[in-house]
Amino acid sequence: MTVYRISRRRLFVTAGAGVVSLAVVNTVSACSSSSSPPSRPVATTAAQPVSTALPDGWHRVDRSYVSAYLLLRGEEVAIVDTGTPGSAAAIEDGLKAAGSGFAAVRHVILTHYHDDHIGGLEGIEPQVKATIYAGSGDAANIITDKPVKPLNGGDEVFGLRIVDTPGHTAGHISIFEPATGTLVAGDALRTQNGLESSDPQFTTDQTLASASVKALAKLDVKAILPGHGEPLTTGANEALQELAASL
Ligand SMILES: [Zn+2]
Repeated sequence: MTVYRISRRRLFVTAGAGVVSLAVVNTVSACSSSSSPPSRPVATTAAQPVSTALPDGWHRVDRSYVSAYLLLRGEEVAIVDTGTPGSAAAIEDGLKAAGSGFAAVRHVILTHYHDDHIGGLEGIEPQVKATIYAGSGDAANIITDKPVKPLNGGDEVFGLRIVDTPGHTAGHISIFEPATGTLVAGDALRTQNGLESSDPQFTTDQTLASASVKALAKLDVKAILPGHGEPLTTGANEALQELAASL
């Protein structure tokens, strides 16, 4: 029941967020032999974010235009980013839908200090026994009752490797799971219009942001879970290589 409700919400939100290409591509793939080609030009990236099946253990909490991600492994859970302020209930719903709950949360990792990624923390923090982490360059900008543990590139949390991806903010980090090739990219990558780097409008240092994309392209990425836009679970590596080469 809960799963269904979240799926429905995701559909509405997807439409509301203007991810038109998703609907177009889905329509075409659903009746590929009989439909005419899409009337709008196809984006030049190697892959479109059409699949919502996430790698093993990963779950998405779609908060309108921003996503939080949950990693369930055994009896423990890591949350990566917490959405906009007021997102705690939706994240709890997501945990329950995945068969877990706040009691299992041991790690809350924040990719950067912007409000649409740390907003839910205020409601989550009192309900979990978890360590809160952020990149060492951003941790001081996150004010909570508990200390925020600073992370640096190469650190490991819960089998997740921390990758320094400065640019969007000075201390922006991405999270890479080597076992599955899953990259939770925060705002270092986005997928609303094919795969793109950090939105220049909100980026502290675009040169650094481009260098971060090139660094991410050196990883063996199989799935990209971005802060904004749909997860990219097919053709992710090819799209990332193409993007990195274009910067
Ligand atoms: Zn953001």
